[in-house]
Amino acid sequence: MTDQTDLRLTPQRMAVLDVLRAAHDHPTAAEVYERVRRSSPRIGSATVYRTLALLVSTGQALELNLGGGAAARYDANVGRHDHAVCEGCGRAVDLDHPVPDGMMAEIARRSGFAITGYDLQFRGICPDCQAHGAGPARLEGPARPQ
Ligand SMILES: [Zn+2]
Ligand SMILES: [Zn+2]
Repeated sequence: MTDQTDLRLTPQRMAVLDVLRAAHDHPTAAEVYERVRRSSPRIGSATVYRTLALLVSTGQALELNLGGGAAARYDANVGRHDHAVCEGCGRAVDLDHPVPDGMMAEIARRSGFAITGYDLQFRGICPDCQAHGAGPARLEGPARPQ
């Protein structure tokens, strides 16, 4: 077995990657599994989970840990980008508005770090959740009395 160095895209791996590339909502592993099963009904969840880990380790997908103990989400957009995370429904939206170069240089200068990268995450309430009146209270313990 040379599983760890075997980077070939088998049909099952391809199916997982296809699902991820078609998704724009940063699905969790469970959501990826649900979607892959529509085209590959015989695929097992272990295969999907293993494939996601492989795609992350080979740089074909990003694993996003968005905090709050939420399940990791997956992203086939591996280019430099940041996210806005909804505190109502938990979905993450891509932001294509990079931090200005001058700000990176300033942070490097002040901290003494040779900065190699960053992960920026904005939190808020997405338009859908705003329309349905949802708020952060859903994630923060007991609901407010009406
Ligand atoms: Zn939302
Ligand atoms: Zn993303």
